[in-house]
Amino acid sequence: MKSTNNAQKNSTKRSPALIILLVLLIAAAFFVMSDAPFIKGARDTLMQKLGYEAIDQSAEDGSDSGEVSEAGGGNTAEAGSFDLEAGELPEWDGNHYVKVNGGVPEFPDDVYERAGIHSGKLDPFEYYGSLDDLGRCTYAYGCLGEETMPPEGQDRGDISSVHPSGWAKAQNWERCHLIAWALSNENANPSNLVTGTHYLNYDGMRPLEEEVEHYIWNTGNHVLYMAKPWFSGDELVPRGVQMIARSVEDKGKGISFNVYCFNVTPEAEIDYKTGIVTTSEQAAQDARTYVINTRSGVFHYPSCDGVKEMSEHNKKTVTATRSELTAQGYTPCGYCEP
Ligand SMILES: [Zn+2]
Repeated sequence: MKSTNNAQKNSTKRSPALIILLVLLIAAAFFVMSDAPFIKGARDTLMQKLGYEAIDQSAEDGSDSGEVSEAGGGNTAEAGSFDLEAGELPEWDGNHYVKVNGGVPEFPDDVYERAGIHSGKLDPFEYYGSLDDLGRCTYAYGCLGEETMPPEGQDRGDISSVHPSGWAKAQNWERCHLIAWALSNENANPSNLVTGTHYLNYDGMRPLEEEVEHYIWNTGNHVLYMAKPWFSGDELVPRGVQMIARSVEDKGKGISFNVYCFNVTPEAEIDYKTGIVTTSEQAAQDARTYVINTRSGVFHYPSCDGVKEMSEHNKKTVTATRSELTAQGYTPCGYCEP
């Protein structure tokens, strides 16, 4: 060190310009290499002004799809581009659900992004896609954990105000959460409720939701989760709901599935455009007398109070089977439930 000081002293004596150059070089090197936040910020600003993307930012933004496989999925499907194609949805085979993609969970990039999988800083969240042009739910996903679940002792809220697409009265439809209330603490969120059968809601989806719920309570871990209704063409009632889940901390050891749950009722015909359900019992009904309100398109039993209040002008009495009327586009009254 001493000899260096001497050398510097000497050089100072010899050339003041040289020491100024040296100081500038050291400052420049410091500016380029330092990780001090204010220097880094200034450097990034300068780089951006010069037309370069800030290097650290682009490394973190994870637009490089190759990183996703680390989280498990492998492929980086966009929302809606799974190996299920609308119009080619699986036919109900008597089971509650079929596996999708061999049962291997895959998520859109955005799920990994928001969950902070790339940056390694886990960030629980929920996201609900907007309704489409036909007012149908699109998808819901999140990184679920105790943070997103209802606090202990909290009661479920009222969801009866929401009428999901395809909802028809008196058809025994259930408001089916895409992400269960017990996982999301979401009540009357229209982007999270679809028209579903008891078979879908209770027998198909619930056991899987409970599996995730119990896993989170037992481990305190997190689960990447996505639920997406699948519609055929412009129908308003989904044919099924895809459910994808993968536990984060143990890399899918605890929770790992990718399935399509059928929105059907055994022993019933569903009109997925109108939401009208005809049970085989109803289909077998003989023709009988109904009263149709020609203005509203609703049909009643003749004894219904709705008939007494109906104006004579709109009243039409017919003899038909229930299925004949629903096939003609008439809707059963929600009160007398013909
Ligand atoms: Zn009625």
